[in-house]
Amino acid sequence: MEEQKKENEALREQLLYRQKNGYDLIDTAERLALEDYCNGYKAFLDAARTEREAVREAITQAEARGFVPFTPGMAIQPGMKLYRSNRGKALLLAVIGEQPLSDGCTVAAAHVDSPRLDLKQLPLYEDGEMAYFKTHYYGGIKKYQWVTIPLELHGVVALKNGETVEIVIGRDAEDPQFVITDLLPHLAGEQMQKKGPEIIKGENLNLLAGSVPYADEGKERVKLAVLSILNDRYGITEEDFLSAELEAVPALPTRDIGLDRSFIGGYGHDDRVCAYAELKALFDLHTPEKTAVCILADKEEIGSEGTSGMQSEAFECFMEDLCAAQGVEKRRCFEKSLCISADVCNAFDPVYPEVSEKRNNAKANYGMGISKYTGARGKSGTNDADAETVGKLRGIFEKRGVVWQMAELGKVDQGGGGTVAMFMSKRNISTIDAGVPVLSMHAPFEVVSKFDCYMTYKGVLAVYEENGK
Ligand code: MN
Ligand code: MN
Repeated sequence: MEEQKKENEALREQLLYRQKNGYDLIDTAERLALEDYCNGYKAFLDAARTEREAVREAITQAEARGFVPFTPGMAIQPGMKLYRSNRGKALLLAVIGEQPLSDGCTVAAAHVDSPRLDLKQLPLYEDGEMAYFKTHYYGGIKKYQWVTIPLELHGVVALKNGETVEIVIGRDAEDPQFVITDLLPHLAGEQMQKKGPEIIKGENLNLLAGSVPYADEGKERVKLAVLSILNDRYGITEEDFLSAELEAVPALPTRDIGLDRSFIGGYGHDDRVCAYAELKALFDLHTPEKTAVCILADKEEIGSEGTSGMQSEAFECFMEDLCAAQGVEKRRCFEKSLCISADVCNAFDPVYPEVSEKRNNAKANYGMGISKYTGARGKSGTNDADAETVGKLRGIFEKRGVVWQMAELGKVDQGGGGTVAMFMSKRNISTIDAGVPVLSMHAPFEVVSKFDCYMTYKGVLAVYEENGK
């Protein structure tokens, strides 16, 4: 009887796929490493409120570790650490491997743009003797989440003379901030009957920017006073907004969440949490077998379009220059390459279980989330990695003690989404989605589990090191 019981348990152990909570799988040393890693990430996230700031921070950290700008025609050799900034909005980095590029490379591609409110090109207006900035939202947001929270303004104003003025308002403790007002509940009866997307109209996402009139007799005195402050501080005029990129982002500092501090709350985890994982993995890499390439892309949240998006030829250009240095055809390199499309997935939320299918949804603290496919309806708009690529990762992760899980975005027909994966696989690069599960994705304050952040770093590092061995 006892014997039979033991045998059955052994059979279960052998045949059943059993996932375990990540905290049951790591020792004290790894818990400390996890905390250490997350401290680095939190500092990165606070320094990188926009794609430009993420790129700048990444370059600063890369240069401190010996990375140098890669120029066309430069000779390359194993161990070299290179980077190329794409217009200051996207970044490509590489550590040259022992094997030639004709054997392929290992790519990890994350994005550093996040949902936000962009100022319109003619943003400033006055109404009711108050000044406002008009915005146009960027990425998929629930508009009602962006009112009545403090906002900061970050970005650049490009002047006619070629100079660029950098603007950051609301970051310093002494700085003023901005806010979008909302109706008081007492008068919101009609508003609250509306459907979600219409509760707050896109055209009502206006930042409160001032109320003191300029001391004269003319019209729009408050607007004039606000312009005069901007002119004093930055030397700009209203016309200069025409060539500006100013982004209103949540003024919410990154914080530990929960009594046990197991989560990190912050703005822009999607996808700076994966961007940082890639960067840190690249920094911790010794000369790999295959050249390791790290991409921090822009414009993912609006379809990866534009020169700094992942559909841009900027990536081809970088890879062609690398391949040319070894006399290799880029397409020969691509067909043997492997790409981790490092982007966040959704974490199962027990408050909203109805949108997820429990068996296949990622869970917080269960590790790096691997999505064989994303997309919507019948897998429309997805890369759908081949089984062989998934199998390869399983092998690498088992060898390296990476805790990971499969991650499907919600129930079938519940909704959907995409990443840069399909644009990477279009280039004939075997690609798979992998990243950190997120709670409240695309909200002004998103939540991730520290365990999953750390395992995503560990996963990317394992793939960089093991691919080609
Ligand atoms: Mn993303
Ligand atoms: Mn996103």
